[in-house]
Amino acid sequence: MTIPSSSKFMEIRTTPHAGRSYHSTVDLPENSCLMDISTPYAYTIYKQFRNEVCSECFRYDGGRRSFLTCREYSESAGLSFCNDQCRDQWLIREGADAVRLLARVESARQKGKQKVKGDALPRTSGTAEDIEREWEKVRRLEKSAKDVRKWRRIALDDFQADAARYVVLALHHLFQELSSVGHVSDLGGSCWRTFVSLQSSETIRIKQFPELLDDHISIYQVLRGLFTSDKDLARQIYDGRQPEPEELLFSDVITVENVRRILAVDAGNSFGIWERPLIDNSELLGFAVYPVPSFFNHDCSPNVQSSGHGRKLRFLTTRAVTSGEALCISYGHVESLPMKERKKVLLEGWFFDCVCRKCVSESGHAE
Ligand SMILES: [Zn+2]
Ligand SMILES: [Zn+2]
Repeated sequence: MTIPSSSKFMEIRTTPHAGRSYHSTVDLPENSCLMDISTPYAYTIYKQFRNEVCSECFRYDGGRRSFLTCREYSESAGLSFCNDQCRDQWLIREGADAVRLLARVESARQKGKQKVKGDALPRTSGTAEDIEREWEKVRRLEKSAKDVRKWRRIALDDFQADAARYVVLALHHLFQELSSVGHVSDLGGSCWRTFVSLQSSETIRIKQFPELLDDHISIYQVLRGLFTSDKDLARQIYDGRQPEPEELLFSDVITVENVRRILAVDAGNSFGIWERPLIDNSELLGFAVYPVPSFFNHDCSPNVQSSGHGRKLRFLTTRAVTSGEALCISYGHVESLPMKERKKVLLEGWFFDCVCRKCVSESGHAE
């Protein structure tokens, strides 16, 4: 995998217990900058905050809106900016098409009442077989143009629409990469291949929350319905030929595989978009997936710390590190919690039982 050039001090190694993770290749003093990542590959700002957060620099001012002076896309596409400069930076990187795509997703957002989670029973108990079977049904349905057209009328609740915005940005970046039209932006050193090489947590999360499968399927159906024109339907269904890069359409990248993959990597790999400076009761404004730093493993006594500067993330060593040492951050800022609480947060949020040196030594003391 390609690591940005700032990371000449480290490499990805695969170890049996920890999988793929960063290790230092030289001795490093405290405060060494390991990487600067300019932007996430895909992200979402929750509906509740998006009129209060700059879509480019992620600035948030305790709920005040007066600093957001550029609001031309706020009603239609849910994008607000500090000023024209923030807007232009966003447009240069994402492309003007991204505004149109996000506005289309917003058109499917249910107005008014919010669905209360747990209202409806999930359609399955969420086993791996259930997941495959339900998606197989979707694949069968999408062979009929009539069914795909019906999907244009599905409404998304706020949770689903916020996730759909994240999915659309990822698909848009894939489309830019594959098609010869449009420019390919620097997405924090990541391409689609880096993004999809992140660990999937689809099965484990749907087992935990079976209703997520319904959410994922609704998101897919809405995107497929909204972005597949009648002409695209005719071409894809009756032609059967693979399109050339220059004739590729956005709807060609909206596949069950791609959408499942995008939704499978968010939970275990996303970084929170937090109100800065980070304090105990900072608001969580949204989530963002930065594929390159996702290969830092977790340790409850980390030797690397991330700091957010707008949409940028910087990774610095917190102490001297010797060559060959694993480079670890702390997921979810759990390091100040007692051992049992830390382990619970990590198991529920990141699906692993922490056996870092600190946890092992503290559980030894507890016995
Ligand atoms: Zn801004
Ligand atoms: Zn630990």
